[in-house]
Amino acid sequence: MLAALLPPLTFATLAMAGAHADAVAHAEAAASAAGRITTVALAGTPIPERAAPGKMSAAAVRAHNARVHAHLGEGLAKRGPRWRHIVVHHTASEWSTLARIDAYHRRKFEDPDGIEYHFLIGNGKKRPDGYIERARWDLQERSIHLFKPEGAPDAITISLVGNFHERDMGPRTYEAALGLVVELARRHDVPADRVTTHTRVDGNLTVCPGKNFPTRRLLSDVAEALAP
Ligand SMILES: [Zn+2]
Repeated sequence: MLAALLPPLTFATLAMAGAHADAVAHAEAAASAAGRITTVALAGTPIPERAAPGKMSAAAVRAHNARVHAHLGEGLAKRGPRWRHIVVHHTASEWSTLARIDAYHRRKFEDPDGIEYHFLIGNGKKRPDGYIERARWDLQERSIHLFKPEGAPDAITISLVGNFHERDMGPRTYEAALGLVVELARRHDVPADRVTTHTRVDGNLTVCPGKNFPTRRLLSDVAEALAP
């Protein structure tokens, strides 16, 4: 695994990735050239490659997300590990895109698999608010996203575009995050107590996903949704 090949420092620097993801001006072009991560056509229902913010109603985003949920097991490069945890992050930047993060992680961490997040959820800036994009999920590779990966091994990682240390989360983002967490937890038998956030795993090494992130509410809603 890649994790074994990287020096420990990489884990430390990785946490900063979101904060600096947009510092690289030409990253998006580089990602397109790399062409490794693409938007997957799901069972004849292609996801719009460039779903523009503001051009999708809340209902259209919900319909898109429902398709993502329904086809989570399709279009995968291989059979992945037994997923045991779900960890939620934020990107720390309001203008992050899948392509930019992919290019940034590819270069910064020398990870040929690119973006370390399995899923990205838009905030209405570069992608519609609450719009789910599949990323590393397609590859079914583990991701390097924690200082202490032993705290949440084999974790599915979901990153929400935005900085929830500086602002509150909007309802559409929240709804998408909760829905995706619950769907993944059901499909992969991840119990509610193995759904967590970055800082709950890594403690004071990071504030991700930010002090305003509704952690208690999310974990409570997940537990309620997963209750028998
Ligand atoms: Zn994080």
